[in-house]
Amino acid sequence: MDTQVKPAIDIDQLRINGERLWASLMELAQIGATPKGGVCRLALTDLDKQGRDLVTRWAREAGMSVTIDKIGNGFMRRPGRNNSLPPIMTGSHIDTQPTGGKFDGNYGVLAGIEVVRTLNDHGIETEAPIEVAFWTNEEGSRFVPVMMGSGAFAKAFTLEHAYAATDTEGKTVKGELERIGYIGEQEPGDHPIGAYFETHIEQGPVLEDNHKTIGVVSGVLGIRWYNCTVTGMEAHAGPTPMALRKDALQVAAHLMQEVVACAHRHPPHGRGTVGMVQVFPNSRNVIPGQVKFSIDLRNATDADCDSMDQDIRAVAAKLSADTGLPIQIEPVSNYPAQVFHPDCVDAVGRAAAKLGYSHMPAVSGAGHDAVYMARLAPAGMVFIPCKDGISHNEIEDAKPEHITAGCNVLLHAMLERAGT
Ligand SMILES: [Zn+2]
Repeated sequence: MDTQVKPAIDIDQLRINGERLWASLMELAQIGATPKGGVCRLALTDLDKQGRDLVTRWAREAGMSVTIDKIGNGFMRRPGRNNSLPPIMTGSHIDTQPTGGKFDGNYGVLAGIEVVRTLNDHGIETEAPIEVAFWTNEEGSRFVPVMMGSGAFAKAFTLEHAYAATDTEGKTVKGELERIGYIGEQEPGDHPIGAYFETHIEQGPVLEDNHKTIGVVSGVLGIRWYNCTVTGMEAHAGPTPMALRKDALQVAAHLMQEVVACAHRHPPHGRGTVGMVQVFPNSRNVIPGQVKFSIDLRNATDADCDSMDQDIRAVAAKLSADTGLPIQIEPVSNYPAQVFHPDCVDAVGRAAAKLGYSHMPAVSGAGHDAVYMARLAPAGMVFIPCKDGISHNEIEDAKPEHITAGCNVLLHAMLERAGT
């Protein structure tokens, strides 16, 4: 007689418990709750400690072991049948902006815990272990750099560099980690990963605008930042005839329009923004002698970013030649585009299709811990809509049915990779 016990449920029919996940989200959101319905739980504060304590308590109650590394990242592990395999990991962050919402980051961590609770409910064992991570200081609000925990884990910078970061009161990351008791023994990065998935609210309006439940994220946009300076000549606004002016602002205004036009010339993911402008001498009756402004260009691949770079430089060179005014474009910083692994992107797409959720390809315009994980292992992300695309705001909101859907997609994508 075959004594092997088969799971009582067909894996394809498996669904997470959306009410339990929602209740956990609301309970965690009590820690640092703000009067307008948001959350203020800055990295490595007492409130962050309380959040970490609650999440790790839930993990232990779900039978998971908890490891903390030297930068305070937490790894909550559910063993598999073959524990020599690297874990299939999911995670995100539980720190927030000062006027943050309940869902940014917190959803990604608690969705992982809900996946484990669901597997426990049905007695389902996976071949590879499952891990849920919370990464330290993703938001970068209290301490710079952003995505500190995952960045240290991916060795984008040293542990010493992260430890030395200070808040406005001069308190260091290392001191605050020690103070809240979340400085572990494990070296960041000393931890294999088989594949990484992250569920997150979109933080943009595209899914809602398209009436889609799931965004199958193909990657994160690359970013190029520049300072641009147009130099003309100050002169009196009255006596100087139009033909004899060197009006830096008129030329700069033309080039600012071209930043936006450049993004339109590189669809579908091109973005072009001028967010900061300084006019000298900034006086009503003086023709502007110099204008400095920022340029932010983004696109889905480094090649597309390069092409936008060449485009705007060519436009600026022609404009300078036509007007006789010098235009300087200086690069300030450069974040490479991160294309996610096709196996993970496809696993997310397949899970959404199998579950019958409306879905569409998506790119992330914001950075996430998954960007650093993608340097170490195949990675992918699941987006769900958030109300009006608003995030980093206390009014950030997401619908329970979308929260549930994203977690179901996570469950099935992770099971595909972990094996049952
Ligand atoms: Zn986030």
